[in-house]
Amino acid sequence: MASLIACPHCGPRPKEEFTVKGDAAIARPAADASKDAWYSYVYLRDNPRGRHKEYWHHTSGCRRWLVVERDTVTHAVYAASDAAAQGETA
Ligand SMILES: [Zn+2]
Repeated sequence: MASLIACPHCGPRPKEEFTVKGDAAIARPAADASKDAWYSYVYLRDNPRGRHKEYWHHTSGCRRWLVVERDTVTHAVYAASDAAAQGETA
């Protein structure tokens, strides 16, 4: 059975309509932050096991950025919300 993402604008849609951007927990550093802080922000990523939040773009749908909470082990999707509504942007 296909994995479904419950887009808050379009309803349940197959995951193939989305593009994954990555970890939604990473905070953008200040413009005058150190080179190390920017390097870490741009290039370094954890590979979490279990439940976490990611940015997903509904590329073949409403074209909105979502924050999707899912489990990287079971692929279960727990929640999806509009990133802009949470004050989060990619
Ligand atoms: Zn959508």
